[in-house]
Amino acid sequence: MTSPEFDREALIAKAIEARERAYAPYSNYRVGAALLGKSGRIYTGCNVENAVYPLATCAERAAVVKAVSEGEREFVALAVVTENAGPPCGSCRQVLHEFGEAIVVLIADAEGAYRETTVADLLPDSFSVEDLK
Ligand SMILES: [Zn+2]
Repeated sequence: MTSPEFDREALIAKAIEARERAYAPYSNYRVGAALLGKSGRIYTGCNVENAVYPLATCAERAAVVKAVSEGEREFVALAVVTENAGPPCGSCRQVLHEFGEAIVVLIADAEGAYRETTVADLLPDSFSVEDLK
């Protein structure tokens, strides 16, 4: 399978911008995400923490919720940016998986250095709609 063509640096730049809007007064771990839909539109997200800690929302899931709520359900790639290129958490991997194992995931640090993987590689042997049949 060949990797889809898109501007990786531009998608990461959008995630870096989104990271500036992170609301992370408790962890100070700021995260930005940018999700590229098949339409070509990019949906951004940042982490949004809460004084009730478990209510925090991840940047990746914020981007997915924005996209789906605006009518887009098919995605090419997600870029996620943190200070130290931290990977998506398990919950975000599962939420991304709902919309396709082939989604490319770019995991970048604050300077834009990144590694490239896929949802399939991040969440092997996963639960999906197929298991509900
Ligand atoms: Zn997450």
